[in-house]
Amino acid sequence: MEKVIAINSGSSSLKFKLFEMPEEKVLASGLMERIGLGDSIITIKYDGQKYENVQDLNDHEQAVNLLLQLLEELNIIQDFSELTGVGHRVVAGGEYFTKPTLVDDQALAEIDRISDMAPLHNPANSLGIKVFKRLLPQAASVVVVDTAFHQTMPKENYIYSVPYEWYKKYGVRRYGAHGTSHEYVAGEAAKMLGKPLADLKLVTCHLGAGASITAIKDGKSFDTSMGFTPLAGVTMATRSGDVDTSLLSYVMNHSDIKDINEMVDILNHQSGLTGISGVSADMRDIIAAAEEGNERAQLAFDIFIKNVVRYIGQYTAEMGGIDGIVFTAGIGENSQPVRSAIMKRLAYMGITEDEKENATFGKNTFVSTENSKVKVLRIMTDEELVIARSTYKLAHENK
Ligand code: ADP
Repeated sequence: MEKVIAINSGSSSLKFKLFEMPEEKVLASGLMERIGLGDSIITIKYDGQKYENVQDLNDHEQAVNLLLQLLEELNIIQDFSELTGVGHRVVAGGEYFTKPTLVDDQALAEIDRISDMAPLHNPANSLGIKVFKRLLPQAASVVVVDTAFHQTMPKENYIYSVPYEWYKKYGVRRYGAHGTSHEYVAGEAAKMLGKPLADLKLVTCHLGAGASITAIKDGKSFDTSMGFTPLAGVTMATRSGDVDTSLLSYVMNHSDIKDINEMVDILNHQSGLTGISGVSADMRDIIAAAEEGNERAQLAFDIFIKNVVRYIGQYTAEMGGIDGIVFTAGIGENSQPVRSAIMKRLAYMGITEDEKENATFGKNTFVSTENSKVKVLRIMTDEELVIARSTYKLAHENK
């Protein structure tokens, strides 16, 4: 039985999902946290069971070694020759990665070269790739890059209105993010709508702790709300989304903040829902506090909704129409009040909410009524499945 593992390697964590392919059956999934920080936590779910343990893991090499050992000990894998592919999520891919790619020296060098675009993620991704390649040399090593799907955007949608040399010299442009998720949910939406994706104009809303909105036209990413980095776009859990950049120098001139990196860190980690509300970064807490009359929590909710509505409107105008809107990720999949508030503000487009369906959980469904002019769908994203599929495909093409 052939197996493929999808890996999401962070600076101090390693998430995995093991699939039997081509059946796409999930055999195990898990998380190793606090790598290199002492008291590392290891959790593996498999076959209705859960393995949990705390022990020190000094680095990713040790973490991967232990993971492979546990997969064997827990009888999840009998022989490592069954593992034919390892697929890695990579956050930033610049202009080099346009599709899932078999890792070679050039691909690895490229991930390292642009790592200052995603300093928290790319070095960890690169490390994970190297460790797995060393420990499982027989398995195909594949990268699935978050920015790749957006490489189809037309130039007018990715060039900033700044000196053009900055693009040429520094690669400053819109790259977007969450591409794997946007691509997957758009494909699922097309199936549910019963039309080829290429014939649809869709706006996919990936609303999690990080949030991005994508316009999908002719089956391709046409525009997206995240920018040069995942800081841009809509209000997020702790990220500001779009701001007038001259406020940075103004605040720096009038406050104790003197370092631009500190400023950007505040925009990344102390802004968004948490910054506006002063309550929490979690949409559930924001909604609960707003219901109890907390005005800043209500304001944070309203700004979040307004931003999503603004991007849907913008992208409808850019695409010259819209057939469907997709909600996905933590908030998009689970928050009935968020979806409902957005749909109410889009009534002018002929959108009507199916209140009963919108109140359900955990399944792909239409949350707009049958006669809604624009269809609205809730689709559960599955980035690991996309990684596993791509890895399996490339492993076979290159046998
Ligand atoms: P990420 O992958 O960006 O960390 P997720 O897609 O897992 O994010 O989403 C996490 C977010 O989803 C949390 O910040 C939380 O606010 C939100 N979330 C999860 N469940 C709900 C819910 N029932 N209602 C509102 N928000 C939710």
